[in-house]
Amino acid sequence: MHYFSSTYSEARKKFCDIAQSHDWEVESHVNPICLGPEGEDLAMDTVWIGSKDAKNVKIITSGVHGTEGYAGSAIQLNLMELGSFDNLPDDTAVLLVHAINPYGFAYNSRTNENNVDLNRNHIDWSKDLPEEHPLTEKLCNILDMNKWEESFFMPNTLNWQPLSFLFMFAKNGTRTMQDALTRGQYRFKDSLVYGGEDPEWSNQQWRGILKKYLVNAKTVEHIDIHTGLGASGDVEVIFIDTPSSSSRSSRYARVKKIWGDKVTCPGTINSESSVGTGAMNNAIEEEVEKGVVVTTVTLEIGTLKPAEVFKGMAMDNWVRSKKLPATDPMYKKAKNLAKRAFFLENDDVWKEKVLEHGRQTVEQMGLAPSRVTKPTINLNNVKNKKR
Ligand SMILES: [Zn+2]
Repeated sequence: MHYFSSTYSEARKKFCDIAQSHDWEVESHVNPICLGPEGEDLAMDTVWIGSKDAKNVKIITSGVHGTEGYAGSAIQLNLMELGSFDNLPDDTAVLLVHAINPYGFAYNSRTNENNVDLNRNHIDWSKDLPEEHPLTEKLCNILDMNKWEESFFMPNTLNWQPLSFLFMFAKNGTRTMQDALTRGQYRFKDSLVYGGEDPEWSNQQWRGILKKYLVNAKTVEHIDIHTGLGASGDVEVIFIDTPSSSSRSSRYARVKKIWGDKVTCPGTINSESSVGTGAMNNAIEEEVEKGVVVTTVTLEIGTLKPAEVFKGMAMDNWVRSKKLPATDPMYKKAKNLAKRAFFLENDDVWKEKVLEHGRQTVEQMGLAPSRVTKPTINLNNVKNKKR
């Protein structure tokens, strides 16, 4: 279980170390805006494996939602160690991108240094903003964390949300509320699921990476790894309906050909997810030459019940709105809950499932592990539960 780290910097070090031990090219994009909690650099790191001329490129990304990077990073490490990328055909290369949102990863936040949800930031900024959900304004007013009291978050508070929020839930139903909460909004910058006001640093870096590495690509397959949606340890492979020159049905057919009929569509009965705007998956087709065939999905692995995940997000948003210093006892408490919402650090069964889902989903892209061996480098020996 040494694939899982307790901090962003630990995960970053392991990722870079193992790539370098394979002599794979590591490229670091250091965030110029902010530093980590220990004053360390915050970086988006990439590893390229295979020929620069490869026509088929497989991409695996982690940590677009900061805290969710613990699972994504562990999956990337596990695959590197199991040799999933060791015997690539000549025409195939792999691009791993670690910590798309290094600030959120380091500070246990779903959002970035500007409280932007990066998976809502990849819209076409030259056009009108996406249509807002009818409930957004009311919801964001209720979720204005500056108005929330500390007592809401106390462990013994049964109904920790304000009554107005609970009434809204009762009136509109869980699904509608989830749709409203997660669609993405572009007006309330201190609130939840805020998409920003222009392309964020991470968005620009991610696009730059795609431009640089996909020059020779003819087909691109991509998995973006997330956690926090669905029952604990359950997996969902989600079709992201990106703006595209090809028809929706042909893109959906391509996704199902790789990942099978279990692939779900946001907002439908078979998916836990709602339709969102501005997913990072959108950037790929926008940054490659016309005619390149792009197939992209989101991998979601469940953690806690929706109310607990929401509480983690709300508490993180609360300490950020109140600008609480890291020394404040409530800061630590909030960040712990925010972390736990997306990363079940003490649950070995969950961790095993995360790795297994990662391996399976990547194997379906044609990248099978070539061995089941001990780590090639000493990452950090943590007692492991036998499978
Ligand atoms: Zn996510």
